[in-house]
Amino acid sequence: MSLLEVKDLSVSYGAIKAVTDVNFYVNEGEIVSLIGANGAGKSTTLLTISGLIKAQSGQISFAGNDLFKQMPSQIVANGISQVPEGRHVFPGLSVLENLQMGAFLRHDREEIHADYEKIFEHFPVLKERRNQDAATLSGGEQQMLAMGRAMMARPKLLLLDEPSMGLAPLFIKEIFRIIQQIQKEGTTVLLIEQNARTALAIADRGYVLETGKITMTGTGTELLNDPQVKKAYLGG
Ligand code: ATP
Repeated sequence: MSLLEVKDLSVSYGAIKAVTDVNFYVNEGEIVSLIGANGAGKSTTLLTISGLIKAQSGQISFAGNDLFKQMPSQIVANGISQVPEGRHVFPGLSVLENLQMGAFLRHDREEIHADYEKIFEHFPVLKERRNQDAATLSGGEQQMLAMGRAMMARPKLLLLDEPSMGLAPLFIKEIFRIIQQIQKEGTTVLLIEQNARTALAIADRGYVLETGKITMTGTGTELLNDPQVKKAYLGG
């Protein structure tokens, strides 16, 4: 059994079909990348996994449990954290307070403190800026904070929505390096990206989503070398 199993998922916004009969799975320990153009349905898929959008039909199970029966807060408590597109750090709160918010369902005070230190090892810049208002961070730093905040929930599965969006190449490299580090430390990752080259390069497996449907799947390397993927997503 896979950690996450998405079966025949369809999601609509009124008359607009955003996701149609989508099937995919994520095994424990993997990085799986879902790539696709603007509007392909990537964010909708993630938001449905997190319980923030209701599906029309299909099934999503996580560690054998039916996610459609769970509230978003239960889904977080059971081990899925999402880093939303556009980061959404809390302005007016410091870096440290933003990290605290990520641990709001936890009561293990000492371990929470140990986890701040772990996050600061991944993101030393956050330590330097721990008392600074999150709104004053650069885009790359906000992405790091959003990832750190999600990790504070100690997820088994981390959902990342376009972590590279709007970032300078150096920051993108750093973010993807940290995603790999997070995987090595035992967290499974589902990554959604328009930046297909980098997303596939770090992925164990990937899926191509086109206008709401999965059109291709393979290992990261297979997809990187696929002529159709090259043409459509890697600039030829
Ligand atoms: P992007 O990278 O632009 O976020 P995406 O692949 O994540 O693209 P979605 O945001 O999931 O795609 O959008 C899938 C489809 O659903 C698009 O046609 C989009 O216009 C539509 N859609 C998304 N959100 C809404 C909404 N709240 N109301 C109506 N239609 C929506």
